[in-house]
Amino acid sequence: STTLDTISLDDQFARELPELAMPWQGLEAPQPRLLVLNEPVAADLGLDLAWLRTDDGLGLLTGTRVPEGATPVAQAYAGHQFGGYSPRLGDGRALLVGELRDRSGRVRDLHLKGSGRTPFSRGGDGLAAVGPMLREHVVSEAMHALGIPTTRSLAVVATGREVHRETVLPGAVLARVASSHLRVGTFQYARSTGDLDLLRRLADHAIARHHSVAAEAEQPHLALFEAVVSAQASLVAQWMLVGFVHGVMNTDNTTISGETIDYGPCAFLDVFDPATVFSSIDTGGRYAYGNQPVVAEWNLARFAETLLPLLADEQDDAVAIATESLGRFREQYSTAWSSGMRAKLGLSPDTDDATAAPLVTDLVTLMQDNHVDHTSFFRGLGTAARGDTEPARSLVLDLAGFDAWAERWSALSPDAEAMDRVNPVYIPRNHLVEESLTAATAGDLAPLERLLEAVSSPYDERPGLEQHALPAPESFGAYTTFC
Ligand code: AMP
Ligand code: MG
Ligand code: MG
Repeated sequence: STTLDTISLDDQFARELPELAMPWQGLEAPQPRLLVLNEPVAADLGLDLAWLRTDDGLGLLTGTRVPEGATPVAQAYAGHQFGGYSPRLGDGRALLVGELRDRSGRVRDLHLKGSGRTPFSRGGDGLAAVGPMLREHVVSEAMHALGIPTTRSLAVVATGREVHRETVLPGAVLARVASSHLRVGTFQYARSTGDLDLLRRLADHAIARHHSVAAEAEQPHLALFEAVVSAQASLVAQWMLVGFVHGVMNTDNTTISGETIDYGPCAFLDVFDPATVFSSIDTGGRYAYGNQPVVAEWNLARFAETLLPLLADEQDDAVAIATESLGRFREQYSTAWSSGMRAKLGLSPDTDDATAAPLVTDLVTLMQDNHVDHTSFFRGLGTAARGDTEPARSLVLDLAGFDAWAERWSALSPDAEAMDRVNPVYIPRNHLVEESLTAATAGDLAPLERLLEAVSSPYDERPGLEQHALPAPESFGAYTTFC
């Protein structure tokens, strides 16, 4: 049966990159209590569900008890935050407990957030509150169910410790699982040390872990860069197609794996508007919905800069070659986004681009001019493809404009069933997220469980979840997130 010492945790990151790993431990939780456990993720990691609920299990999930020989570490990284460079960020309230293998043999980081102060905490308290950790749990589960690469939440454990923000809040630790926590900011940190051996070890660690085909390439580090460009182009296209606004696309929140990471002030669009910003601190709109592709490209330029010494070893004109590779981002992003839009409209692969492209462009204009609810509108188009235009049409003010567009589109015989497989009914609606986090903070987990039920199967419309398919009521007003 399971005991702490039967959990086999590796420490590959800490072993290979000790300069980036500060051995540390989690802060004792006075009264740990499991709030949510992600059973499929636990099972995939071979973790025994009943054992996770024991004192030792909760100790592992809060970083206070680890298997003999395991060394949790705080990871060092730097990062551009809102365009300004911070040379030393790092895990100020997080720990990498170690690496586990999932059922298919893939390496998975077990990582904690809210586990207490570390040498990287600067002025912070190292803590996290129940609400934001449950937000990460629910939104990352929604992203996963939507088919978008993301870190996963294994569990949220209430600590029994108070956290002081604007008010006093109950504290929690999130146990997160990811294919790694390597970020552009990790490379920025390694590069800034001036230690090229460290930079090379980091790049080779990233290749082995995420982009192993790059190892076979003639120029492995250029191949690594190109693989990350592709992964990010594909990721951000998927965000855009589903209306996800990350909210804090700093270089330390841009992964090398291409997984979405760090669910802070994120939210989904209600009304379609490229200028949408939810985060209270993003006053300049740097990370607005419509800016996300160019910001990702900007972050990748910062990544390229860190790799230049390695690229220069592989060939003469490293700057020119990196610039050319970065240039593929736009191409790959556009291709991914356009083909995603074609899928959302149920167009057959035979539809030529000369027909599809203007149809898509005109639809975007129509959605923007009419402030339509993004999720309901696309799902409604599936119903329109079955002959009933009303659900989509009723969301538009310019009825003549909609009818003219819909006539051109219907003529292409859109595939309603295919549309329903890519246009979700349920996303984590902002008002329901807020409502469920407020209830959970006060001790009632029922609304959160219901929200999780809806967003875990986002394409499958079910009775009893009607409220979860609707936009926020007018009275909810403009949504602002805090982190
Ligand atoms: P984030 O905005 O979550 O990406 O975090 C940016 C940086 O701030 C990271 O280095 C975090 O570890 C650090 N940080 C955020 N909140 C806290 C906190 N409460 N205590 C200490 N460090 C924190
Ligand atoms: Mg972060
Ligand atoms: Mg954060």
